[in-house]
Amino acid sequence: MSVSIDSQQCKGCMLCVEECPKSALTPGETRGSRGYLMPRANNGKCVSCGLCALLCPDLAISIIKEGAGT
Ligand code: SF4
Ligand code: SF4
Repeated sequence: MSVSIDSQQCKGCMLCVEECPKSALTPGETRGSRGYLMPRANNGKCVSCGLCALLCPDLAISIIKEGAGT
């Protein structure tokens, strides 16, 4: 499983970082195309619960299931 954050949508609010129950998202150092610092995903910790994708106000997060041809 992995978390994909759309650099064109993310506004760097870090709501996902605060709410991830597995601490799989941390504040990152890369800016998205809107100029905001984006979260960084630690896919080794992610359990693909989908909470971050539900909470993101900008619908910037996708959960990708590995082995699904992506
Ligand atoms: S909740 Fe969405 S917009 Fe906010 S930092 Fe996370 S991915 Fe970006
Ligand atoms: S899917 Fe769940 S575990 Fe993975 S980063 Fe999002 S909130 Fe955290």
